[in-house]
Amino acid sequence: MVKKTNSVATETAYAAQIASLHGALGIAGDYHQTIGLPLQAEPRQLTDAGPDMFGRPLQMTPDTLAAWLAMRDQAARDGVTLWVVSAYRSVNYQAEVIRRKLDSGRSLEDILRVNAAPGYSEHHTGRALDIATPDSPPLETAFDQTVAYLWLTENAAKFGFVLSYPEGSLSAISYEPWHWCYRAG
Ligand SMILES: [Zn+2]
Repeated sequence: MVKKTNSVATETAYAAQIASLHGALGIAGDYHQTIGLPLQAEPRQLTDAGPDMFGRPLQMTPDTLAAWLAMRDQAARDGVTLWVVSAYRSVNYQAEVIRRKLDSGRSLEDILRVNAAPGYSEHHTGRALDIATPDSPPLETAFDQTVAYLWLTENAAKFGFVLSYPEGSLSAISYEPWHWCYRAG
C-alpha cells in the first residue's frame, strides 16, 4: 500500500514538473491531447554507456545498453558500423533545447514539430537511441538510404529495437529513420 501511495505521489510530482516546464515555455495546456503522444516516465535506473560520437557521455537503461551492445557487435560482424548519437535525455534538458530554439527566433509551433515537449520524448525513458553511421550526416532523413538503415530494418527487431516514428505514421512526430526504441523486457 505504501509503495502504491509513493508511486502515485511520484507520478503527481512528475506531472506537476511537466506542467511547470510547459507553462514556462508557453506550451498549451492541451498539448498532450492534440499531440497524441503518451507521457514518458523517466527510468528508475540509468547506466553509463561511454561517450557518443561527439565524445559526450551517454546514458541508457541497463537492459537497453545490453541490447544495444549485442546489436552493434552483430552489425560490426556483418560489416556495418552503428553509432549512438543520443540516448537518455532528462525533461529539463528537453526544456533547455526548446528554450534555446525559441531564443534563436524559431516559433514554438515549428519547434514542436521536431522536438516533443518536455515529458513526451521517448528519450526520457532511457530506451530510445538515435543511431548514426559514418557515411551519412546524423539525424537526417537520408539515413534511410544507408546500408546501416537497411541492416536495422532487417535485424533490429531481433534485439528488441523498434522504429518509433516510421514514414507516414499518424504520430505528431515527423519521420525519424534514426530513432529506435528498445521495447523488449
Ligand atoms: Zn530520437
